[in-house]
Amino acid sequence: MLGEIKGLNEECGVFAVWGHKEAAQITYYGLHSLQHRGQEGAGIVTSDEERLSIHKGLGLVTEAFKEGELDQLHGHASVGHVRYATAGGGGLDNCQPLMFRSQTDSLAIAHNGNLVNANGLKLELENQGSIFQSTSDTEVIAHLIKRSVYPNMEDKLSDALSMVQGAYALAIMTEEELLVAQDPNGLRPLSIGRLGDAYVVASETCAFDVIGAQYEREVQPGEIITFDRNGMHSKLYSTSAPRRMCSMEYVYFSRPDSNIDQINVHTARKNLGKKLAAESPVEADVVTGVPDSSISAAIGYAEETGIPYELGMIKNRYVGRTFIQPSQELREQGVKMKLSPVRGVVEGKRVVMVDDSIVRGTTSRRIVSMLKEAGATEVHVRIASPPITHPCFYGIDISTKSELIAASYSVEEMQDRMGADSLSFISIDGMLEGIGRSSQNSNCGQCLACFTGSYPTDIYEDTLHPHDKVVNG
Ligand code: SF4
Repeated sequence: MLGEIKGLNEECGVFAVWGHKEAAQITYYGLHSLQHRGQEGAGIVTSDEERLSIHKGLGLVTEAFKEGELDQLHGHASVGHVRYATAGGGGLDNCQPLMFRSQTDSLAIAHNGNLVNANGLKLELENQGSIFQSTSDTEVIAHLIKRSVYPNMEDKLSDALSMVQGAYALAIMTEEELLVAQDPNGLRPLSIGRLGDAYVVASETCAFDVIGAQYEREVQPGEIITFDRNGMHSKLYSTSAPRRMCSMEYVYFSRPDSNIDQINVHTARKNLGKKLAAESPVEADVVTGVPDSSISAAIGYAEETGIPYELGMIKNRYVGRTFIQPSQELREQGVKMKLSPVRGVVEGKRVVMVDDSIVRGTTSRRIVSMLKEAGATEVHVRIASPPITHPCFYGIDISTKSELIAASYSVEEMQDRMGADSLSFISIDGMLEGIGRSSQNSNCGQCLACFTGSYPTDIYEDTLHPHDKVVNG
């Protein structure tokens, strides 16, 4: 995962099954294909209609579930989660699904996204006697459901969701039903598929392919879908907000074989590369992309310009999280564990290096110097997203403005700092058109907040990082 070195990390992945006797096994495979969305912990809760069973653990899905542990999870329904800790920190307590047992019933909840008013709500709930078992913002939703006076789960959930703000793609399960919901802006992807008579729900459609499920439809913004013994039924609990799908899902986070809103992610990325080439052409000998997420955009850039695409860099896939990383001194001596230039491709060449985004700028600087050390005569950096100038409060780990290079420096200054021969970013209109949205329509369907500072929800003082409070005023 390049995210770790880029400073841009994924959020989480949700997967759920309704009506299949091997619900836990299917969820395990589904979570495995969502592994790129979170590597810090994984969990599955199943229901056999009488009780919920849970297993969760730290690390990758294969580390969290050892031989035989899946066999302990019985039932026809399940909810699973892979976690990257953006709010509330790591640790097993914060691993999801979170599960709550009471005298009468139980509830499991898995959440992708981040609430912006969780701190205020938590304080209010604690003042009214609620005791929290985790520091995760997701638990706030569970407490609000528990406190709701409505008689059925669908109304309890819609009551709870009327109080929270932010990004959430949710899966909630009791002994008798499974509910999934999207926030009013639909900031995070969530799709429904069919596997024979069973229903499956996943953050990304790539999880359907691995289990042989057929895509059925997206969960709509502001929609709650309930699966119970009467089948599937839907309720719109909010219709007032415009769709604001996270643009970075297309640019960087989602797998290229996933479709979001029926737009294939690889195709969108390739189109971003084409738009970028049309907006910022340059004379060069080869085009290369930073593996893995920038390769589709690099192919698009090459196609549009006619400059050949080459494998100018390779990623070492076997650097695990537990690998002993070289010291700063060894790193400076050139011990680079993750990316290596392909000298035979770049030596003596003018190289266009396509990357999906720039966060801190340190990775781009390292890649430019690596390509030049390998003999590239010129390195032209082309970025397939606009400059990221504002933090994200919706579950992406770019929470402080001070760590964003584009918030402090002009494009020329960034180019100088990274030692590139030229640097260009795709425009916002170019990105929207590349994704397949209209840039002429004020309701473009995408969240652009980290590029523009215009957030689709209110942002509360206590959501801001101390460094940002002054800047955001
Ligand atoms: S602010 Fe940026 S990263 Fe966050 S949801 Fe919006 S587009 Fe995605």
